[in-house]
Amino acid sequence: MLQAFDYTIDDQAPQTGWVGCRVRVPFGASTTVGVVISEPEATDSDSPLKPIEARLDSASIFGSELWSSLGWLARYVHAPLGEVLATALPTALRNGADVPVLETTFWRLTEAGATARSGVRGAKQSQVLSVLAEGERPNEAPELKGLHPALRSLQARGWVESEVRPQHAPESPEAAASGFELNEEQRAAATQIQQTQGFKAYLLDGVTGSGKTEVYLEAIRSCIQSGKQALVLVPEIGLTPQTVRRFEKHLGIPVHAFHSGMTDTARLHTWQAARTGVAPVVLGTRSAVFMPLAHPGLIVVDEAHDASYKQMDGMRYNAHDFALVRARALGVPIVMGTATPSMEDLHAAGQGRFEYLRLSKRAGVARAPSVRIMDVRKLPLEAGLSSAMITRMRAALDAGGQVLVFRNRRGFAPVLMCRDCGWTAQCSRCDSAMTVHGSGKRLQCHHCGAHRPSPSACPNCNNLALEPQGQGTERIETFLADHFDDVPVIRIDRGSTQRKDALARHFETLGDQPGILVGTQMLAKGHDLAKLALVVVLGIDEALFSTDFRASERVAQLLIQVAGRAGRADMPGEVILQTHYPDHPLLNTLIEGGYHAFADAELALREAAGFPPFAHMALLRAEAKHAHPPRDFLDVARDLLAQDGLDVSGPVPAPMQRRAGFLRMQLMVTAKDRKALQAALARVVPQLYAAPEARKVRWSLDVDPIDLY
Ligand code: ADP
Ligand code: ZN
Ligand code: ZN
Repeated sequence: MLQAFDYTIDDQAPQTGWVGCRVRVPFGASTTVGVVISEPEATDSDSPLKPIEARLDSASIFGSELWSSLGWLARYVHAPLGEVLATALPTALRNGADVPVLETTFWRLTEAGATARSGVRGAKQSQVLSVLAEGERPNEAPELKGLHPALRSLQARGWVESEVRPQHAPESPEAAASGFELNEEQRAAATQIQQTQGFKAYLLDGVTGSGKTEVYLEAIRSCIQSGKQALVLVPEIGLTPQTVRRFEKHLGIPVHAFHSGMTDTARLHTWQAARTGVAPVVLGTRSAVFMPLAHPGLIVVDEAHDASYKQMDGMRYNAHDFALVRARALGVPIVMGTATPSMEDLHAAGQGRFEYLRLSKRAGVARAPSVRIMDVRKLPLEAGLSSAMITRMRAALDAGGQVLVFRNRRGFAPVLMCRDCGWTAQCSRCDSAMTVHGSGKRLQCHHCGAHRPSPSACPNCNNLALEPQGQGTERIETFLADHFDDVPVIRIDRGSTQRKDALARHFETLGDQPGILVGTQMLAKGHDLAKLALVVVLGIDEALFSTDFRASERVAQLLIQVAGRAGRADMPGEVILQTHYPDHPLLNTLIEGGYHAFADAELALREAAGFPPFAHMALLRAEAKHAHPPRDFLDVARDLLAQDGLDVSGPVPAPMQRRAGFLRMQLMVTAKDRKALQAALARVVPQLYAAPEARKVRWSLDVDPIDLY
């Protein structure tokens, strides 16, 4: 379904209205599902083309705005339209499932049932009668849980009956409960958004805990009250069942979720509810940006700086950017909310492309935490912690508070090393050390997933001198559990929270009692911890010296977000950054001037260096089992692109040259002007598909890359 192929249709079939419909077609030895991308044209009767096997939709399943926006996206990322359509469709539809009809079965008493008093068999049946005596109930009503066999027996006796009715959008509630008055800044922001006519992009720049979510909710409330739908995008990790419940509680209506943890069927249900207008609010992760909307009214992108909006493989789109394109096409306002706006968004606001809305202080009684640096040069560290830090943690716990220890490295230790000869355990398929897991027993590669048991002796010198080096969250957890054995110590990272809802359960386990959370950046987002008194940040030093031009921005965002966990409710919060570089300008600018002081300096640097957002980039990657084919392919690309006078650098080896057994090279194209870059790519990419060198490599194009790996 990724490329375009021709088929014939029956003479009797209608000759128009095909575009955007799915068809089942013969493909190779079997059949596949495709989407029709142009109306039928006449062919010779002796055409060698195969006929389609079945038409699956009677009309386009995309809708005109989505169809044309997806066409734009295909041109922008220079991917085949089929790949874009395949990415945009829910999996079930891609596999040929029927578009579901959204209806609900209601149960009610018949006249006989309403007057029946005797002859009821058992407690369940009488429970059904008393529930339904108060009025009809939908099949999924919680009061009917476990009572469906009884319902069916009573139906057989003629005492209850069911009716199937199409679903509608719920009545919008008069006013829902938020429990407090918006403050002046929140009110001003919400009012501006509510009064918007047509398209307008807002950057809602509000410090952590300033009540951005309340502003979204207020804007959404008036959107649904006028009969329109709101689409809310959140980062993968931000979409917890609590987020959905918070929205439902405040809005007083059901909210439809859409994320990768749901079944294909459940996702298809949300998609159809959005498309038919049954869902007033859709709350979803990256791919929810492809949601068809019957009555669009508002788009919200929460944590707009988050890197998870960019898809890093397959069709490399950016949901933050595509949401803007759709809002413009739909003629609706879009709100991008964050405490740490990306340089791109700040630049856009500076140029007046986004309207700037500011929430400068924390909502309610919460106060900004105090942030300080702890210089650990020359100090002995235990599991990466100085003794002063351990004392400080003890004090916070004794005062009844909770402590969060942030370390952006999962596993037990980043490296296994021989003390005698310096050998380290490397992945055989990647240019990378293997991470030590399971208290030292296992080795795992975080890049390709390879794993093996740790050797007991050094494979190089045979000495029993292997030692895990450095700290991962697992090792810190082990140390803390031992050292603070009177409080719970809970680890939160990708290893400990693979199961659905695990994160929520971890937070529930802790509750309000004193305790310690240890984790990776998963901890940086979204969760209100009322009793959090101290945030300890470890291991930032490695991040301060990266070569990626976006590294500073990422560190700054992460530090601000992690620090923002502290001092959320009535607990005064404290944040301590442990470092060997107490004079590092990034840390000092952030602590003294805050994120905006950092951002001003960073934007000036980017402008001077000619980096985004002051230039536009595209990264062409190629990989193969040997080094030559990627280089040959990228040489062809460089020669083609150089004809347009763009700044082309490379081919060079990727920062991690070998990954999962593949040798990787890359070519970076930079242009001052986005149009010039796009024009060059539009001319060159079709030639790349056709180039013989392309057949010997796996290659991909990343327009506006955010990760240079
Ligand atoms: P953000 O999304 O900006 O981090 P939230 O919307 O989650 O902030 O709000 C942070 C906390 O402040 C929440 O517990 C929220 O209920 C509370 N809050 C928000 N607005 C107000 C307000 N106007 N008065 C009192 N508390 C508020
Ligand atoms: Zn050795
Ligand atoms: Zn590997």
